[in-house]
Amino acid sequence: MNTATSHDLFTRAQALMPGGVNSPVRAFKSVGGEPFFAKRAEGAYLIDVDGNRYVDYIGSWGPMIAGHAHPKVLAAVAEVMSDGLSFGVPNALEVTMAETLRRLVPSMEMSRMVNSGTEATLSAIRLARGATGRSRIVKFEGCYHGHGDSFLVKAGSGALTFGLPNSPGVPKALADLTLTLPYNDFEAATKLFEDVGSEIAGLIVEPIVGNANCILPRDGYLQHLRALCTKHGALLIFDEVMTGFRVALGGAQARYGITPDLSTFGKIIGGGMPVGAYGGRAELMRQIAPSGPIYQAGTLSGNPVAMAAGLATLELIQAPGFHDALEANTHKLCDGLERAAREAGVAVTTTRSCAMFGLYFTDQKVETYAQAIASDSAAFGRFFHAMLRRGVYFAPSAFEAGFLSSAHGDAEIGHTIEAAREAFREIRG
Ligand SMILES: *Cc1c(COP(=O)(O)O)cnc(C)c1O
Repeated sequence: MNTATSHDLFTRAQALMPGGVNSPVRAFKSVGGEPFFAKRAEGAYLIDVDGNRYVDYIGSWGPMIAGHAHPKVLAAVAEVMSDGLSFGVPNALEVTMAETLRRLVPSMEMSRMVNSGTEATLSAIRLARGATGRSRIVKFEGCYHGHGDSFLVKAGSGALTFGLPNSPGVPKALADLTLTLPYNDFEAATKLFEDVGSEIAGLIVEPIVGNANCILPRDGYLQHLRALCTKHGALLIFDEVMTGFRVALGGAQARYGITPDLSTFGKIIGGGMPVGAYGGRAELMRQIAPSGPIYQAGTLSGNPVAMAAGLATLELIQAPGFHDALEANTHKLCDGLERAAREAGVAVTTTRSCAMFGLYFTDQKVETYAQAIASDSAAFGRFFHAMLRRGVYFAPSAFEAGFLSSAHGDAEIGHTIEAAREAFREIRG
């Protein structure tokens, strides 16, 4: 496999950008080696600057659920773009977006557009604090909510990949206001709320944890969190930046039948453009400026081109049977991977929820963060490279979920399982 152009670019990039990248996990640090540079993408495939083609199970870390470079998304962007890139005054697509959100996710009675998932979660906890007059927030070990100071306490994703769950630069006074809980532990949550429930502004959770690979909630766990928040007057915030529109059209809240007070979105909502959103109960959202006193703003928020990409993507995923087909394909893929591992005598378990999945090198069923980090991440790194050499790109970390798109069909899944058969045998030695 020729990677000369990527190597040259990465060499230049490392002298100019921290780690040669603009977001940490892209650097391949936890799996070793060097990242490839993308030239273009189509459907289920990424094509690098040296002409190598990869079946892509990341989809730009989530947004590309309809496949890369979907003609309908590109056409929508081109049409809106020809009228100008940004106006700084309201545009009609923002209204359509807010209406679409409320229709697809009924708890989003009112919403505010921002430019990333990070901005959405930061704004949501500011609102929770402002609305309740309380300071503490609760998050879960291994959950990632973007890089806001308050969230870099026992965080997942890159922070977990690099063993930096608590970042330098986060003032202790602020970190002290973030309480953490082990995900899927009923008792620990009950106890924390019994101790300090009256000081908690909000509890933020990835309803399905996608930043410690992929951990599903135990039966009744999200209901338990809902009940605790209600009882103690804290706001329940679902961070659906990853799960939104992916695990069901209405997100994890639809899948599990929970109504959070606030929700955050990102990734799919922008269809590949930089977009985030937060929203929820109208009575809470009215407290945001300019209708209320809690300040939050954005020069490019609600950008028309970004709205066009997001709306075109949200249109595609409303096709009848869209998520059912994705879910069936995820099962095909994960069952195939488990079978291939078993045949090679390698201990692997998978977790799945519709169009997202986890792959762990362990013989245990993974339901907690402790079990996730106890899986064999060195074996994952060897598997990652063995797959990459066979033209399959999984996330370059043992702690990131995998994603399918509607462009992943039998050909791609078949190729992936065949490659995995060889890869498992290779890493077993
Ligand atoms: C990706 C992600 C974020 C951060 O979104 P950015 O757009 O990268 O800032 C927040 N929460 C969750 C659950 C995510 O997966």
